[in-house]
Amino acid sequence: MNPGIPPTPQAGKMVTPEKVAARLRGEKRVLAITHEAPDGDALGCISAFLLMADRLGLDSRAYVPGFAAFPDEYLFLPRVDGVLRGAPPEVDQETTVYMLDCASLMRSNGHQLAEGAVRVNIDHHQDNPAYGEFNLLDSAAPSTTAILYAVFRAGGFPMDVDIATALYVGLVTDTGRFQYSNTTAEAHRMAAELQNEGVDVNAVYREVYESTPLAKLMLLERALCHLEIRLGGALVVSWLGPDDFAKTGAHEGQAEGIIDTLRRIQGVRVAALIKERSGPEHADCKVSLRSTDGSVNVALMAGKLGGGGHVRAAGFNCEASVGWLMDWVENEVRASP
Ligand code: 5GP
Ligand code: MN
Repeated sequence: MNPGIPPTPQAGKMVTPEKVAARLRGEKRVLAITHEAPDGDALGCISAFLLMADRLGLDSRAYVPGFAAFPDEYLFLPRVDGVLRGAPPEVDQETTVYMLDCASLMRSNGHQLAEGAVRVNIDHHQDNPAYGEFNLLDSAAPSTTAILYAVFRAGGFPMDVDIATALYVGLVTDTGRFQYSNTTAEAHRMAAELQNEGVDVNAVYREVYESTPLAKLMLLERALCHLEIRLGGALVVSWLGPDDFAKTGAHEGQAEGIIDTLRRIQGVRVAALIKERSGPEHADCKVSLRSTDGSVNVALMAGKLGGGGHVRAAGFNCEASVGWLMDWVENEVRASP
């Protein structure tokens, strides 16, 4: 057992969007936190939350653990450039902490906050243990921005085009552009409502999907070079090492999305991408797992090595070699029903 892992917190109180909205309206200071290596949903939440806090007249900050640069495609979101990094910030007694899209306290440094800090946990991961003092959890929600949207609507809060755009970015990225199995009719309705608020769907598409830095494509090339097909085509695994990042000039955040290319391969049931990290902060591997048809529960798999996520998209960190991890994933998929 890793000595850094805190005891599992007791599940806190479950609350409704109305309750969260009422609390938010009465706040003085808020701190929004999302998980390390944030994706479009995580940063969409941060942007939408800070913008709404401004509109409600609250004193607000945001924090994301780690130092790695955010994926370029989300840097256009307002307020993301002012997010605090590194060690968790000080939290006074008048600050409520809003944990957004954070399935685990560990990945968000939420366990390192000052003693007594009140955490409102808003998330759509099925494995979220309700670690907050207040918890608004909905595993049927296509994105955490969808839950945030429900909070804003429950409070009758004023929307604007920037807030709507940030919420939309979380929705469009977490549903794989409205094509993953979490794409409910409600997801489409939310998109339509946000579009009515003025979201420029094509402008978001160009920012998020058509502004790829060349270094990122060159990283994809290297991942394709390292690709291995195993289990008769059911498993595709690949890896990226420090050398791949150095040679392409890409940073770690630019590996986001590569796994989506791997899983497109015909006949693949599980795709895995291993990122070998070295440096003062990490000397370990970050593993991303995807299940194409849901027949293999990758959240369960990731959970065995201390990670988690969704049935079809999960991940974990592990101090093991790339070769060992490739074999481990292969054995796990072979043993799956
Ligand atoms: P990704 O592979 O894109 O980093 O993550 C896919 C999904 O797995 C996300 O829902 C993410 O929250 C979850 N995930 C990724 N890495 C970890 C991890 O180390 N721990 C946990 N609990 N979840 C993770
Ligand atoms: Mn999410």
